[in-house]
Amino acid sequence: MRRKLVGGRLLDLVDGSLTAVDVLVDADAGTVLAIGRELPEADEQHDVRGAVLLPGFIDVHVHLREPGFEHKETIATGTAAAAAGGFSQIACMPNTNPPLDEAEHVEWVRRQAAASGRTRVWPMGCITRGQQGRSLTDFAALREAGAIALSDDGKGVQDGGLMREAMLRAAALDLPIAIHAEDETLARTGVLNPPAARRLGVEPQPGESESAMIARDILLAEQTGARLHICHVSVEPAVALIRWAKARGVRVTAEVTPHHLLLSEDAIDGDDAVYKVNPPLRSEADRQACLEGFLDGTLDMAATDHAPHSSEEKAAGLAAAPFGMVGIETIFPLLYTHLVVPGLLTFPQLVQRMSTRPAAAFGLSGGVIRVGGPADITAVQLERERPIDPARFYSKGRNTPFAGWPVTGWPVLTMVGGRIVLCDREEGGRP
Ligand SMILES: [Zn+2]
Repeated sequence: MRRKLVGGRLLDLVDGSLTAVDVLVDADAGTVLAIGRELPEADEQHDVRGAVLLPGFIDVHVHLREPGFEHKETIATGTAAAAAGGFSQIACMPNTNPPLDEAEHVEWVRRQAAASGRTRVWPMGCITRGQQGRSLTDFAALREAGAIALSDDGKGVQDGGLMREAMLRAAALDLPIAIHAEDETLARTGVLNPPAARRLGVEPQPGESESAMIARDILLAEQTGARLHICHVSVEPAVALIRWAKARGVRVTAEVTPHHLLLSEDAIDGDDAVYKVNPPLRSEADRQACLEGFLDGTLDMAATDHAPHSSEEKAAGLAAAPFGMVGIETIFPLLYTHLVVPGLLTFPQLVQRMSTRPAAAFGLSGGVIRVGGPADITAVQLERERPIDPARFYSKGRNTPFAGWPVTGWPVLTMVGGRIVLCDREEGGRP
């Protein structure tokens, strides 16, 4: 079956130029057959007039919550949300119940994603059994089952010797280790960045709890040759450490979230857990450092750390509510509106940080639209402005601090392997 996207504009990821093209795909093979004008007939045509065609976005940090926490999100709702955000591929974190610490659990997620998921789903396997930080999982078995990386996300691996052993084993298998950097002897039960914590009367979580563990793991990666990926960077020293590590040739990549790029602790106004996230929103100087690192490429990619929770859970207030924000449906319009429109980042740079670079870092296909490549395509209406409305989310989670923000650049069509997985509701399309 052949599908054709008609009337789009293709973004050149090098020079930023836009070329009017149609794109013909083979929906059975899942590949792009031709790009240009006056292409052969297709079985199905989709009008994408006015939209810009981009390689499908890739988010390497998503919590799908299934199995175990289906009241927060499921593979079906989380991947629908991903498709709505323009994502064709996501990596899901293993802090489910059971956690993805055995091959059969990873296989289960892959089967479930094939049955009910709209996007490609790449599970990460746990570094330690039960994410308890005491003994390592069977990395080879997890990789065999389909894990693309290892992570104890949600928790830092406290034992440096165990992390060294993990890196040695991961390096032998060429599997990236994605770290949630949090030294619990420094973080304790901290909830917010220290100034905000003092202001609002909750426990502080100092930035050193993050940067100290990043420093340790950079040194271990240098020594072991492991591929280290650093999740959700939030503080200035962490950006500086990563810049230093890259200059020394350490195999390190890093991600930053839209909330750490666009919000500081100053945004937290009262006992509202929608702002509670781990790592916490930091100082304005930290935010500026993250932004600078994202602009100069020290922070390779944007990732959402999409972390849905129920409204009841988030109503418990700053001290008691769980950490996390949703983000997968709103990241592109937020970053396009706040980084590309004001001229901080070029349009191709943003697309590289949301597609090309995550593909390269995790060895995924995609990241570029080309003949013979995967038909993973996102069509975005750059001029469409609409405020962020959590009531419209496909995600079960409504916990976004960006509700009401007027943003432009909404995805209107997402194609995964030649299959259309999102047509925007406003267009009267079908999902
Ligand atoms: Zn996470």
